[in-house]
Amino acid sequence: MTRRVLFLISDTGGGHRASAEALAEALQRLHGPAVASDIVDPFAEYAHWPLNHAPGAYLPLINRAGWLWQTLWRLSAHPASWRAARDLTTIWQSDRMHQLFADHPADLVVSVHPLLSQAPQRTLRARQPKTRTATVVTDLVSAPRMWYAPEVDLLIASCDEVGAAAQAAGVPPTRIRQLGLPIRLAFAEPPVSRVEARARLGLADLPTALVMSGGEGMGPVEQIVSALAAALWDQPAQIVVICGRNMPLQHRLAATKWPVPVTPLGFVADIPLWMSAADCLVTKAGPGSIAEALACGLPMVLSSFVPGQETGNISFVERHGAGVYRREPGEIAAQVRDWLAAPETAEAIRQRARRLARPTAALDIASALSELL
Ligand code: UDP
Repeated sequence: MTRRVLFLISDTGGGHRASAEALAEALQRLHGPAVASDIVDPFAEYAHWPLNHAPGAYLPLINRAGWLWQTLWRLSAHPASWRAARDLTTIWQSDRMHQLFADHPADLVVSVHPLLSQAPQRTLRARQPKTRTATVVTDLVSAPRMWYAPEVDLLIASCDEVGAAAQAAGVPPTRIRQLGLPIRLAFAEPPVSRVEARARLGLADLPTALVMSGGEGMGPVEQIVSALAAALWDQPAQIVVICGRNMPLQHRLAATKWPVPVTPLGFVADIPLWMSAADCLVTKAGPGSIAEALACGLPMVLSSFVPGQETGNISFVERHGAGVYRREPGEIAAQVRDWLAAPETAEAIRQRARRLARPTAALDIASALSELL
């Protein structure tokens, strides 16, 4: 009989969906048709107003009212406030959650989002107590408290800090496994050389800086690209910019005349190949992009972070010597220029990044989830 797994995500950024897709792919690799996965965004597809607008509100909130996001994040760290939010949501949204679980019957429900790790499971437990639950934490060091429901059957921690925080929040240690952050299975394939990857992507064989800013292409990407172009004009180099869902940004970059080759792209499916083609990465400190860059041994300059859940990612990367944080576009460009001009200086970083990487995390987590089926 086919066993069914329901992944709960929200399309706030690109990381939660990418992780759920990686896990679904890994379950498929391990079990073929014996396990079927569903990936659902309950905010977009089921929630009552105003939570149904949460995915769409995320980007404007971060970009235009960072202070408000930071305040909400701080509030959520207080047990009294997140418990109140959890209980209110459980009551208020329970009819929609019942509908979700009726539409998507499952043997195992896996949350891949902090706001979906408590309330839906409470509704589920009241109605279908036999359904198992798991949480896969897709934040790194500073994961919000809402991730950790003590009643969960299995909690997958992305790193030691998350494992310790889950335990402090009351998750029994026997139910916590530290297996890394799930990334697509292609990151565990034998590496493709930079020359080969550039050829496959139709890029010139030049030292390449890759610029990313999460699934939404948020933050001062244009200023960073301008500073990079100004710093690299007198050496052989090219810049590839992955704008994600930010199409206006892609169009503006495409309409600009640059002193070095600049390739602006929209949302691309084959990030592993683009990362393989690059000599270094400039990125927002998103946990997914960081885990992927580590798997590719790609030296990274972290250029910004979402205050709160991404704050700790900066020290995580710097402490392990896998990259640096530079805030000003001029500083970012100077660092990239140094790495591209003298690749041997970046070699030590490459090696440290690879040592920290967990390229098979999705398969390891899928095996652990399978034990609940
Ligand atoms: N991503 C992608 N295609 C794109 C841009 C981003 O597949 O064009 C993926 C990227 O590989 C990563 C995720 O989106 O897996 C971004 O996650 P991250 O945690 O870095 O940032 P978020 O977007 O969630 O803030």
